[in-house]
This record gives sequence, structure tokens and C-alpha cells, in this order.
Amino acid sequence: MLIKHLNKLQKKHALPIGIFSKLPKLLLITINNDCNLRCAHCDWLKGQFANTDNYLETYEWEIFLDNFSKKSGLGEKILVISGKEPLVDEKSRQKLVQVIGTARKDGFMAGFITNGTRFDMLVNEHPEFQADFIDISIEGTRKINDLQRGQGCWEKAMTGALLAQEMAPTVFISTTLTAINIKNIPEHLKAMSNRGFKNFVFHSLIPGEPVENGLKTQDSNILNFLEKVGQIQKKIVSSQMILDFYPESFDDFPEIIRTIQSFKPRFFVDKYIVAELDANFYIRFINTPQTLTTSLLFSPEGHLVDPFEIRDQSYLKENMPVHVRNFESWPKENPYQQKIIELIENIPEVCFNQDCFKFCLGQNKFCPLTRKKGG
Ligand code: SF4
Repeated sequence: MLIKHLNKLQKKHALPIGIFSKLPKLLLITINNDCNLRCAHCDWLKGQFANTDNYLETYEWEIFLDNFSKKSGLGEKILVISGKEPLVDEKSRQKLVQVIGTARKDGFMAGFITNGTRFDMLVNEHPEFQADFIDISIEGTRKINDLQRGQGCWEKAMTGALLAQEMAPTVFISTTLTAINIKNIPEHLKAMSNRGFKNFVFHSLIPGEPVENGLKTQDSNILNFLEKVGQIQKKIVSSQMILDFYPESFDDFPEIIRTIQSFKPRFFVDKYIVAELDANFYIRFINTPQTLTTSLLFSPEGHLVDPFEIRDQSYLKENMPVHVRNFESWPKENPYQQKIIELIENIPEVCFNQDCFKFCLGQNKFCPLTRKKGG
């Protein structure tokens, strides 16, 4: 039902081919709720660093992945394991290794996101372990990184990033853009590129995230970032550079799009809706129907996180009734498909106008256009 509905929408509005054709295929599993760091910009609700006994066991995730894999038949499937920090302790590391191993056997492209500071422990405990990709968080040059992540973290994360290159064919250096590091990015990129890293992913903070106001970037900072990084990107050896973009505010979104369009992007759909700027520089627009329909995010306890709750900042367990264990009917029916359809049906026509940014698809409740229309 959902696919049919989306295909109709695609034809009606001449959206890029394949925009909604394969869903959902990205599984993001958080395996714990604990971390050895306390970064200033941490994107999880503050004060919720604690392990519990209720986490799903390794074998339960493996059963789920097997079922998902057999039933989905959806082509490429991606598994990303995160936590707060998935390498925080021996139990988590063991779980990560086993779940990723099973996922790869089941045909997933599987990898994980880590702060990198305990990577040496992973290598010592599991020297044979291999993943398809690893994403290591480094926030800037040594001084800037350690300001955000804590003294000595840059050194440890760099060691981790170098070790990761032996463990996966693709290693991303991942950076969250904040008011502290955004001006330092060109220097950071050059330094990382000189050390042989070629894949970079940047994330803007999710609007409304409970981080200190002093850390938040403005849309104007992102515009500046795009210009500067676009120039630098041409001078360094880079395979992929990606900006995962949640605009801080949609008030000047048209200006952001105009700036992006000055790069003469090609819009297409891969794992997300993507604007390809020149020379392997991509912007992925997160929080669009494409993301909602192609991604499933699970809590360490096995609850499927309601994508609408994420947007409302209230993704607590009591708001997540769907659990891995009662997920047998999937993928015939995504538990949230009715909500997704309702959301898509409520997208005002104006959002499909070329003068607007059609890939936002009217989802942002602060959009001035939809507000004017009473949306
Ligand atoms: S490493 Fe990640 S989870 Fe840990 S404190 Fe930093 S941002 Fe939060």
C-alpha cells in the first residue's frame, strides 16, 4: 500500500526516479546506552547514560536480522550499529562483533559508529573482525576536538582511525558541526587528508536537540561552511564528502537551497535524497519522507523508535510500542506506514514547486510556506 501510494506521488510530481521504490532498508541498531566520554555536543538526551539489564541479547538481534533478511527481499540492506558508544565495554564489543558478522552473512552491508577511543581494545579482543565501513568521530584539530570531547581524546581517536583502516575498506571521519568547530573544518580536513583519510561525513545538529545553546550553529554558518569546504574539497584527495543536513531553522531555507544550487547539484536518490555537488561532495537531506520510509531505528531494548517521536524530541520507551519481538509481520507492513502516508498526503502542493525546496516535502512544522497555507 505504501509503495503504491509513493509511486503515485512520484509520477504526479515528477520526482526523481526511484525516490520511494525500495523501503525500508537501513537498520540502525543502538546496542547500549553508555559511553566513556561526555562530549559537549552529545546528541542524546542529557543525563541518560546508564546501562540496564533489559538490552536485547546478541542472539535476539541475530534472529531478527535473519528474519529481516529473509523476508525483506529489498535489494541492498545496510546495518549501522551505534550506541551511545558501542565499544564502551567488553560485552558491547562482543555483541557488535557477533551481530555485524551475522548481518554480513545475511547480505547486509554492515558497519558501526564509534568515538574511536577504545578501538585498540576491539582489535586486541577480536583481531580477525572485519566490517564493511567504520565511522570514527573526530571533531576538528587536536585542540578543538579535545575541547568538545575531552583531553587526550584526539590522540586516542586518531589511533583508532588508523587501526580502523585495517578493519574495513571504508573509514569515514565523522564530524558534528558546532559553533566551536565550524571555522576549524578546513584545517581539520587538510590535516586528515594529509594522514591518508579520504572519506568525510559532517552532521549538523538536529534542531531542538538538548545541547547548550552556545554550541548551536546558525543556517548562515552552514552556508559559509558549504562555500569554504567546497573550495577545500577540490584541493585535497577525497573520495567522498557528505553533509548530513538538518537545517537549524527553515526560515531562510530558500537561501540555503539557492546556495546549494550555485554548486549546480544533481539531485538523485541513493540511500537518502541526495544533492550531488561537484567532485564527490554530497548533501544528504535527513528527516524527509525518504528517510522515514527507508530507515528503522532500534533502541538497545529492541524497541522500534517512532520516527515522529524523534522529530518531537520525545523518544522515550513508553512512546515506542513496537518491539523487535513483535515485528514478524514486517516488511509487509511497516508499523508506521499509516502515519507516513498521512504525512505525505498532507504535503501542500506548494512544496512540490521548483521555486521551493521540494525535497523538504512540507515536513517541517516551522516552514513559513506551509504555515501560510495553514499547514
Ligand atoms: S562519544 Fe558520542 S555518545 Fe559518547 S558522549 Fe560523545 S557524542 Fe555522546
